[in-house]
Amino acid sequence: MKGKSLFDLTGRVAFVTGGGSGIGRRVALALAEYGASVFITDINREAADRVLSEMTWNPEKHMTAKMDVTDPGEVRKTVAAAVKRYGRIDVLFNNAGISIRGPAESFSLEDWNRILSINLTGMFLCAQTVGKVMIEQGKGKIINTASVSGKLGHPGNLAYAAAKHGVIGMSKVMAVEWGKYHVHVNCIGPGVIKTPMTMAAFENRERHAQLVGVVPLGRLGEPEDLIGAVIFLASDASDYITGQTLYIEGGRLCD
Ligand code: NAD
Repeated sequence: MKGKSLFDLTGRVAFVTGGGSGIGRRVALALAEYGASVFITDINREAADRVLSEMTWNPEKHMTAKMDVTDPGEVRKTVAAAVKRYGRIDVLFNNAGISIRGPAESFSLEDWNRILSINLTGMFLCAQTVGKVMIEQGKGKIINTASVSGKLGHPGNLAYAAAKHGVIGMSKVMAVEWGKYHVHVNCIGPGVIKTPMTMAAFENRERHAQLVGVVPLGRLGEPEDLIGAVIFLASDASDYITGQTLYIEGGRLCD
C-alpha cells in the first residue's frame, strides 16, 4: 500500500520542454515541489534559467538547457545530457508549442508547416528520443500537452487543431506499442489557460466573455489548474492508465 506517497516524485527525474513560460513553467515548479529533479528545456534559455531561479526545493537538483524541439540533433544531445547527469529520465512533460490563428482558406503553408513542426513533429521527436531511454529502463511516464483543440474544430485553429489531433493519435500508438516496456503515454487536454499564448483573449473583454460563456465551471483556466492532472499522470497513482487524454477544461467538452 503506497497510500499518500502515491503522488510522491522524490528521486524521480523529469524532463520538461517549453518549460520557460506558461504551463511548462508552472508544471516544472510543481514537479520540483513534488520531489523530482527537473531538467527544464526551452528554445529560450534565459526563460528556462528564470524558472530555475524560482525553484526553492533543492535548487541544486535541477538544471536547464536551450533546446529547440524541432531540431533532432539538439533533442538527442539534450536528452543525452540529462541521462549523463541523472542516469535516467522517469517523466517527460512534452509541452512546447505555439499558436498561429487564421481562416482555413487563406492559412499560409509557411504557418501550417511552422505549427506542425513544433506542435506535432517536435512532440514526436522528444517522445521518441526520451521514449528510447524509458524503454531501456523498462519504465517511464510521458505526458504530451494536447488541447481541447485535439477534439474540437474551433474556427481559426486549423493547423493547431490538426497538430493536437495528431498528438492524441500519436500518443495512443506509442501507448499501445510501449505498454510492454511499462512506458506510459498519456495526454493532457487543457481548455483556455491564462498564459502568454492566450493573453490577447484575456485582454479582450468580449472574447473573454464569449470563452467563459461555454465553460460550465464559469471561468477560464490558470496554469495552476493543470498541476493535479500532470502530477497524477507522472506518478505511481496512474500506473494502470495509458493512451488516455485527461481534459482540464472546466467541463467545456460536456455539451
Ligand atoms: P507559452 O507561450 O506560455 O509557452 C510556450 C513555451 O514553449 C515558451 O517558453 C516557448 O519559448 C517554448 N517554445 C516555443 N517554441 C519552441 C521550440 N521550437 N522548442 C522549444 N521550446 C519552444 O504557452 P503555453 O500556453 O504555456 O503553452 C504550452 C503548451 O500548452 C503548448 O503545447 C500549447 O499548445 C498547450 N496549450 C495551451 C493552452 C492555453 O490555453 N494556454 C491550451 C491548450 C493547450
